Amino acid sequence: MAKLSMKWLSAEDEFPDLSKHNNHMAKVLTLPIYKKLRERVTPNGFTIEGVIQTGVDNPGHPFIMTVGCVAGDEETYEVFKELLDPVIEDRHGGYKPTDKHKTDLNPDNLKGGDDLDPKYVLSSRVRTGRSIRGFCLPPHCSRGERRAVEKLSVEALAALSGDLKGKYYALKNMTEAEQQQLIDDHFLFDKPVSPLLLASGMARDWPDARGIWHNDNKTFLVWVNEEDHLRVISMQKGGKMKEVFTRFCTGLTKIETLFRDRGHAFMWNEHLGYVLTCPSNLGTGLRAGVHVKLPNMSKQAKFDEILSKLRLQKRGTGGVDTAAVGGVFDISNADRLGFSEVELVQMVVDGVKLLVEMEKRLEKGQSIDNLMPAQK
Ligand code: ADP
Ligand code: MG
Repeated sequence: MAKLSMKWLSAEDEFPDLSKHNNHMAKVLTLPIYKKLRERVTPNGFTIEGVIQTGVDNPGHPFIMTVGCVAGDEETYEVFKELLDPVIEDRHGGYKPTDKHKTDLNPDNLKGGDDLDPKYVLSSRVRTGRSIRGFCLPPHCSRGERRAVEKLSVEALAALSGDLKGKYYALKNMTEAEQQQLIDDHFLFDKPVSPLLLASGMARDWPDARGIWHNDNKTFLVWVNEEDHLRVISMQKGGKMKEVFTRFCTGLTKIETLFRDRGHAFMWNEHLGYVLTCPSNLGTGLRAGVHVKLPNMSKQAKFDEILSKLRLQKRGTGGVDTAAVGGVFDISNADRLGFSEVELVQMVVDGVKLLVEMEKRLEKGQSIDNLMPAQK
């Protein structure tokens, strides 16, 4: 764990070299801010060094603009707000310290969504993260805390029933082959090889207290102790995003009650919404996405511009660190904060419909000029 900078050295002596960096943290962190923040510690002992280490060690990323900092506990966002407020504002399209987050987990408010063309949309998925109040977050939690989070999660999730009834599989009890199969099938988080994860301290003690819980047909899954205490996922093949979102809302609401019944609320406040490890996930923590075939669209010079107008982002289908193969992309909402869950899923549904329509036009050699979207 990153240590507090030495008192007998000056802030100048300790200030990281950020001259080659391109991430949100590096854009915001100046010597005067560092000077102020290096004296502070959260009640659980998290320091500015712990906050910024991943961004210092990872100057940039080939596919995405990274955030470059993490939270170690719920208090991090308050204690280091001189850094984190501007990072949040920068990352979340001007979200101000006085803004209030809105939550809408009622799937009835989603318009359409079960009609994405399955010839193009191979699978649909909605995920979010949740943090359990009273425990440090993965970059800073102790071994024992992590195990307590696992134990509590296994007990709570065991109470789910019906379609949501499932089982917990601890990583340490899985064979290498079982683990790899789950990763290849897109159900399980990757092994912590990404330098972004490693440098943040999230992968300490791997695979201790990590695991995956899922229902029998693997349409509702919970990751335990990866980047967040919990990652709750609903997914299935094809383009029925509303069905996926409905299961997501039902399951998530049940889980929240189960934890509350055991005396543990999720970390949440009016301003930040759900509090998660990475500032990029604050708010809804929601990423709704599809794996979609866009071989022609993705060759268009305006592909990135169109995505950005639709407030969508692209990834490879192997996860955040991968490039697209064969014109199949992971297309998902770019925002997490400032929009409700329903609004974000709506953006994905509407945006993906348009992208597929454009793809069909291009297939026939037709122009897509009159389909160009306005900035959302
Ligand atoms: P997350 O934002 O959930 O951390 P990652 O990009 O790290 O997402 O990917 C995690 C895993 O989820 C990967 O195996 C990825 O292939 C899988 N995944 C993401 N979106 C979809 C989708 N729409 N359909 C199927 N699998 C998906
Ligand atoms: Mg991930």
